[in-house]
Amino acid sequence: MSVGTLSKKILQAALFYEIWDAMKVTFKHMFRKPITFQYPREQRTMPDTHRGALALLRYDDGRERCVGCDLCEAACPSRCIKVISSEDAERPLQRYASEFYIDITKCVFCGYCVEACPVNALAMTKMYEFSTHDKRTLLFDKKRLYDIGERHLDEAKKYLYAHNQEKNVEESREYRYYFPQSVIKATQSTPKHLS
Ligand code: SF4
Ligand code: SF4
Repeated sequence: MSVGTLSKKILQAALFYEIWDAMKVTFKHMFRKPITFQYPREQRTMPDTHRGALALLRYDDGRERCVGCDLCEAACPSRCIKVISSEDAERPLQRYASEFYIDITKCVFCGYCVEACPVNALAMTKMYEFSTHDKRTLLFDKKRLYDIGERHLDEAKKYLYAHNQEKNVEESREYRYYFPQSVIKATQSTPKHLS
């Protein structure tokens, strides 16, 4: 080590140079606008693509969208969905989910179930405050999922729009109403039992 370097090191040690150097960072941040959110008094604005609690959706006339096809259950990598489907007595050949469960403790919020659903009956919301001391309450049943869907309908729709799964246009709405047959441009005649 040269004499110059040695004397520089001695001088830096005498003046506590490293402490002052580190304090520079502290002083710099003291005068900056803080970016910490004081949760829960302050809450972040979530983007429409946010993957929060899952919800089941109804059509505008109140009918359940879910046709109990089980595709969401098959797509779920965590195996946390259970669908029990039944025949709809009022609409022959049509099925619905008589029971629907999602174990949120196992959910990894990947959104695969939403993508797999052919009728966009599932969507994700911006709801993320459902922590609890009793994990049994995190087994969301059909009623709870539809309740979330009703309370967070706007967010759920925005999620579907943001992920290009649904379009916010009249044609899209009418098609969804009459799945699997479009009423705008019918491609086949109405089955006898429905006419
Ligand atoms: S978000 Fe993913 S892990 Fe959660 S229920 Fe849907 S498919 Fe399963
Ligand atoms: S939510 Fe969708 S994918 Fe799952 S059972 Fe219902 S219709 Fe099928």
